[in-house]
Amino acid sequence: MRKITIAIDGFSSTGKSTVARQLAGALAYAYVDTGAMYRAITLYALRSGFISGDTVDQDRLNANLKHLHIEFRHNPETGRSDMYLNGKNVEKEIRTLEVSRAVSQVSVIPEVREKLVALQRKMGENKGIVMDGRDIGTVVFPDAELKIFMTASPDIRASRRYKELLDRGEEVAYEEVLENVRKRDHIDANRSVSPLKQAQGAVVIDNSDMGLEEQFERLHNLAQQVIRED
Ligand code: C5P
Repeated sequence: MRKITIAIDGFSSTGKSTVARQLAGALAYAYVDTGAMYRAITLYALRSGFISGDTVDQDRLNANLKHLHIEFRHNPETGRSDMYLNGKNVEKEIRTLEVSRAVSQVSVIPEVREKLVALQRKMGENKGIVMDGRDIGTVVFPDAELKIFMTASPDIRASRRYKELLDRGEEVAYEEVLENVRKRDHIDANRSVSPLKQAQGAVVIDNSDMGLEEQFERLHNLAQQVIRED
């Protein structure tokens, strides 16, 4: 059976990663969460003191990009891939609200995107991959055989994110999470380099009122249809 590339883009906290991971599992494809890569660079910038408030010291960050080693490694305990930054597992640290607050400002930097897009293209060069992010169908793999654009109302997305953070033991207020979701959407959709937008030919899925099972079935059917086409 032929292998394809599946690009899943969309707003923050639309549940892209969950369904992308499920889909990759069902098809025995690789799964790449590109948000984790932007988050890892953001964590590095925070730890290095390159971010204060809403301002990122782009020159200092760019000067250090070549020393940054970003990779996914399989975790046999969870069966998932964890993000490693310069050889250290940072999977937990990249998911905090502190990183979420700064990541969209780091993601506007062209040099950061250039580095990560090159890595992402390499990971997908043999197809058989499900990749999720903001610019996968538009920039990373514009020729992907299947493109999905996921969306849901900001309130629903913030509630999902809020629950996720509470489950991880982070003390946050719902309003703070909602504000972060809205702010990231705004920056992601309005930046000049690779803004978040619907790729040409993308199938739009609004999962505001959709259960996880239904969403997975929808995507799985779409993928199987495309794989069968020649
Ligand atoms: O997917 P996730 O919410 O973890 O992504 C975190 C942030 O990384 C996004 O809000 C966006 O600013 C950035 N991002 C991006 N391009 C991607 C993936 C993520 O700019 N392909």
